[in-house]
Amino acid sequence: MSQAKKGFVYLVGAGPGRADLITLRGAERIRIADCILCDKLANPALLEHARLDAQIIHVPKRIGAGSFTQDQINQLLVSKALEGKIVVRLKGGDPCIFGRVTEEAIALNEAGVGFEIVPGVTAAIAASEYTGIMLTDRRYSSQVAFITGREADGKEDTNIDWDVLARFPGTLVFYMGIGSLSLIAERLTAHGRAADTPVALVADATLPSQRVVRAPLCGIVEASQKAKIEPPALIIVGAAAGGDEELNWFMRQPLFGKTIVTTRDAAGNAEFARKILDRGARPVEFATIAIQPLTDGNEFLRTLTHLADYHWVIFTSPNGVKVFFDAMAALGKDARVFASNKLATLGAKTAAALAQYGIKADFVPTVFTGRELGWQLVAFANLNGKKVLSLRSELATDDLVDVLQKGGAIVEDVPLYTVVPKTGDAEALRRQIEDGQIDWLTFASPSAARNFFDAIGPEAVNAGRARVASIGPVTSEQLKKLGVRVDLTAAEYTTDGLLDAIEAAERPT
Ligand code: SAH
Repeated sequence: MSQAKKGFVYLVGAGPGRADLITLRGAERIRIADCILCDKLANPALLEHARLDAQIIHVPKRIGAGSFTQDQINQLLVSKALEGKIVVRLKGGDPCIFGRVTEEAIALNEAGVGFEIVPGVTAAIAASEYTGIMLTDRRYSSQVAFITGREADGKEDTNIDWDVLARFPGTLVFYMGIGSLSLIAERLTAHGRAADTPVALVADATLPSQRVVRAPLCGIVEASQKAKIEPPALIIVGAAAGGDEELNWFMRQPLFGKTIVTTRDAAGNAEFARKILDRGARPVEFATIAIQPLTDGNEFLRTLTHLADYHWVIFTSPNGVKVFFDAMAALGKDARVFASNKLATLGAKTAAALAQYGIKADFVPTVFTGRELGWQLVAFANLNGKKVLSLRSELATDDLVDVLQKGGAIVEDVPLYTVVPKTGDAEALRRQIEDGQIDWLTFASPSAARNFFDAIGPEAVNAGRARVASIGPVTSEQLKKLGVRVDLTAAEYTTDGLLDAIEAAERPT
């Protein structure tokens, strides 16, 4: 029998909540893994780093069907590694802080499987920094203790010395303690901790759903019940918990905690969602359209054969650029097809998309519509009798072509793609709108607006509290035609401009 190849296990800290707080090494390990065993607390968005063919096993340790015991997880790690696989065991926060890594590491040692531990940002550190409750602020505390709240009831073997904790002259941070908050508060008080000691609960740290509840030790149980705090949450006890509200940079962001619906195609939604998360808001991705390439049609293929005849080639959207170069890749061609052309783009975003393929556009005016681009190009270059190729969406208006023709150009307008309707779960979203769970609906194109309101009638939106934000006048016009109340139109017609406008509307005056 041939010697079986041995795999390797990475015990990786996923970080505390938001997906980009993982370490670079952690993300790299996810990228190379054959198999990933994922904890309940690890952000599922991290799995987007995984290879498409990676096996992903969710191993929640709760009670009930589909849950795993620690022994089962240990065995799974060992058996996957013995199959010769690179295994990532993805754990919330830091893998070793209340993470039962020791048991997994011992099982791997016993089976002769190699392992590496990749540290992560533990919840206490993240909760502190995302609330401004500084655990070791020198004014309040020069020491900090991490404690598991699991053992508070004393039923399990406990190493907790309540006498010591009650007297501890620093900050206490209890993990897994929300279920036994009243016991913890009682024990600390019974052992002599002052009833007015500041306490803060931090739930869902680093996520748009993050919450903080502050109260003195004697009132924290009631405050927690009133706010319906649920795990995952931390209990922070000590003078530092009283800390400075002014340092709470995260929750102070104007869009913090707001729910914003994106209504573009899947790729556009994903990109927009990242920007929304970056401003502390919660994105809800609802696809309304899909980009359908037309690059296998005769018109496009014929155009390619005489690309060199055109003086100028115009791209008007990043989508167009992507569709074009996907088609080139399929044909075994690359950016050199444009060796003899000058290139103009509508907007910096489109130019940036071209740059990804190694092309520096020759003309990138700061404009947002085809008409403006046309006028600018006519003013910039002498187009008289020159051949111009416009590569756009099939649904684009004729403005650009008209203006270029007026400038004397011989224009060919070749569609690269079309936009087809495609909707997500409209019923579920309508319910969220009606229940008042949505703060903003955003629209970045007239076709998205049309398809959205085909799926979800305007009544639900007009009657609800969700506000409607449009990327620019053309989209706003379309929304109004559909009978939708438009609450704001961005001044700069980009997704960043859209978020700036929403932020301005939300900023307290
Ligand atoms: N290894 C993890 C902790 C696992 S124990 C770490 O290093 O963070 C699980 C406990 O961690 C939860 O009960 C909760 O107390 C805390 N926790 C994890 N993620 C949290 C978050 N985003 N916000 C608040 N507490 C969190």
